[in-house]
Amino acid sequence: MKLLQALTQTPSVPGREDRIRKVIQDYVTKQNLFDEITVDAMGSLIGVRRPRPEKGKASKKPIKVMLAAHMDQIGFLVRHIDEAGYLRLNPVGGFDARNLFARKVRVCTTQGDLPGIMNASGKPIHIASDAEKKKIPEVTEFFVDLGLTGDQVRNSVLIGDMVVLDGPFEEVGNSVVSQCLDNRVGCWALLKALEGLKHHNCEIYAVWTVQEEVGCRGAQGAAYGVHPDIGVACDTTLCCKTPGVPDEDRVSVAGDGVCLHVMDSSMISDIGLVAQFEAVAKANSIKCQRAILPRGGQDGAMIQRSRSGVRTIALACPVKYIHTVTEMTHKDDLESYHTLLTAWLESL
Ligand SMILES: [Zn+2]
Repeated sequence: MKLLQALTQTPSVPGREDRIRKVIQDYVTKQNLFDEITVDAMGSLIGVRRPRPEKGKASKKPIKVMLAAHMDQIGFLVRHIDEAGYLRLNPVGGFDARNLFARKVRVCTTQGDLPGIMNASGKPIHIASDAEKKKIPEVTEFFVDLGLTGDQVRNSVLIGDMVVLDGPFEEVGNSVVSQCLDNRVGCWALLKALEGLKHHNCEIYAVWTVQEEVGCRGAQGAAYGVHPDIGVACDTTLCCKTPGVPDEDRVSVAGDGVCLHVMDSSMISDIGLVAQFEAVAKANSIKCQRAILPRGGQDGAMIQRSRSGVRTIALACPVKYIHTVTEMTHKDDLESYHTLLTAWLESL
């Protein structure tokens, strides 16, 4: 869990993925996971692993598999600094304003990181009217207080600096809880799957993509560059088997294994690949579950539509309380995620 913890505690919002890319790049270099490592123009990290057959020679034209996990997290960029030094923010990714009250944040500047407090503009409960108490502010109405004077803030913070919510990584019961499990879990699963891989006949392009949270932008260019035969997007999905949600809207169940995303609003997975993954899971006694997400997308959509089209599937880890700083995922689902991916790659 140390690796997953390190990934979740490294701030990287869309367009500012350099920190998380360095953590992943250092790790894959140390573990010697690839034959070639490059970074494309938008910042996605691409590791190439040539076939390593168990016996005999590798095929001259091996199947090219692109595995993709987005390494950005939802966050903010500084939009405005007012006279008194309060920051106003522009969201990069979909926040629910109800989860933003009284949060600790980290403002990442060129001179270092500053701790801050996020709150909504308005009055405390003691002096607010009944109407004011009921109002849920827009995301753009939240501000950051750095506890510094206006001049101090202006001397260290620039428009466009990254701001992230702060939340610790903890083990809670059979689960782990942290900020940005979406999608450091996918980044982690790729690393673990490749570490566990002994032999494979396919050629693997593992891509840690940028800017997924603002519309799968990095995956688009990366998929064009890789030109794969098969795409596998590795992300997280809703797990709403929780109080207040009808069972038919649960999407996935914590502890029932990694999800084979049959469809979401951005793509329909290749049903042949879904069946292939299910067969591999059954043969290796690995848990997995089918899931449909009525609204929401992921990088697989860009891979599937690249060039003349690519057979693509999306894998996703069930995550409760997604897009909060207390995202929760079951340890069994983490385990099945990377073991299924390894077993499938070995089966090709
Ligand atoms: Zn995601």
